[in-house]
Amino acid sequence: MGKLFGSSGVRGIVNSFLTPEKACSVSLAVASYSQAKKAIIGRDTRFSGLMLQEALISGLLSCGVDVKVLDIVPTPVVAYLTKELGANIGFMLTASHNPSQYNGIKIFDKNGISYSDEQQQSIEKRIQEKNYRLADWKNVGKCTKTDATHLYFEKLKKIVNLQKKWKIIVDPGCGATFSVGPKLLKASGCKVTVLNAQPDGNFPARASEPTKKSLRDLALIVKALSSDIGIAFDGDGDRVAFIDNDGKFADFDRVLAAFAGYVLQKNGGGTVVTNVETSMCFEKIAKGHNGKVIRTKVGDVYLSEAIKKNNAIFGGEPCGAWIHPQVHYCPDGPLSAKLLLKALEEKKVTLNEFISEVPKFITLRENIQCNNKNKTKIVKSIEQKMKKVFPNLIETSMVDGIRISLENGWLLIRASGTEPIIRLTVEGESLKIATSIVERGNKLIKENSEV
Ligand code: MG
Repeated sequence: MGKLFGSSGVRGIVNSFLTPEKACSVSLAVASYSQAKKAIIGRDTRFSGLMLQEALISGLLSCGVDVKVLDIVPTPVVAYLTKELGANIGFMLTASHNPSQYNGIKIFDKNGISYSDEQQQSIEKRIQEKNYRLADWKNVGKCTKTDATHLYFEKLKKIVNLQKKWKIIVDPGCGATFSVGPKLLKASGCKVTVLNAQPDGNFPARASEPTKKSLRDLALIVKALSSDIGIAFDGDGDRVAFIDNDGKFADFDRVLAAFAGYVLQKNGGGTVVTNVETSMCFEKIAKGHNGKVIRTKVGDVYLSEAIKKNNAIFGGEPCGAWIHPQVHYCPDGPLSAKLLLKALEEKKVTLNEFISEVPKFITLRENIQCNNKNKTKIVKSIEQKMKKVFPNLIETSMVDGIRISLENGWLLIRASGTEPIIRLTVEGESLKIATSIVERGNKLIKENSEV
């Protein structure tokens, strides 16, 4: 990727990497590139949001684009409303699950789909060349505030109707779902108790990334109040995590696989998409429901592209980013939460029972130090030697690093995008199998690093 854009737009520490000048240059370039007439902007709860929002607005207005400001809303709401309000572009100011010193800019096209790598590269080139199309002074754009979240609510109401009065604890973690998350579930007839629902960009209650560790309080409260489920979102609400009815964190891979299985069963089969790092329990479940699995690079943009291209019925990553193409191609935490509740209702099970059908495997991870210059070359050189070290390999994929499937496990070797390391991820049906794969993978990387 370029200097400015990563796989998920622009992201970095505010006023060190991401300055108002940079934000303004992004909006100037996007407006010039897309020749947009109308844009919408949303942001998460970070303190730097307003500062960067004004910079984006300035660039857009100067190119003659009319801007509608949504204020604090989740990322999926921006994606959905970009299309629904007939805007040519949508901007979301967020650093997702990163700590509060970070912020970022995600860009959506008129269909609410994230800008692709190619589109981002075109923007980056324009910024380098300062190739902007400023409007005549009489034709600068107009800026208005608008609240259109009701359109998102109406759509979700049409898509899924809950029958049961679920007893839920919702934890927006002081992020962008602070209002939309609890409201949506209350409007669905659930009995909702909220936790950490004050908007606060310092994320004082818990880390903005929902993990087993950061959701400890939520887990305790679900148990103490004998609730049916705990639901937590990340900083911008495109990810969701669940606490089961026993107060236990629902494993990301297993709940994703169980939900994919449910969608496949409901549709009588179809294609489902996930990334190269997801547990093989995803295939095991999909296979049992007449499903075809496509694996992509890590990053929701790649999943969206694959879902669209292959007409898939569902896609998700094991960080809680689930995409439901019947609504849109943006991962959507609140929608995922509602659809999971519907799945539990239809199957008449608790979350614990829902996940129990998914097999449990052992995952091991190792990082091997390697200088930045050589890491990609080393990963490439390993490819030819795989067959010798793993004679029983069933399949090799080069979608993102090298990933090989074995009968009772798999191995993934990837050069880190940001650090001087090679990442080794292994999964096996037992600890013994996983350890044996790790040992062979580790040896292979080390031998090739010395050459
Ligand atoms: Mg996010």
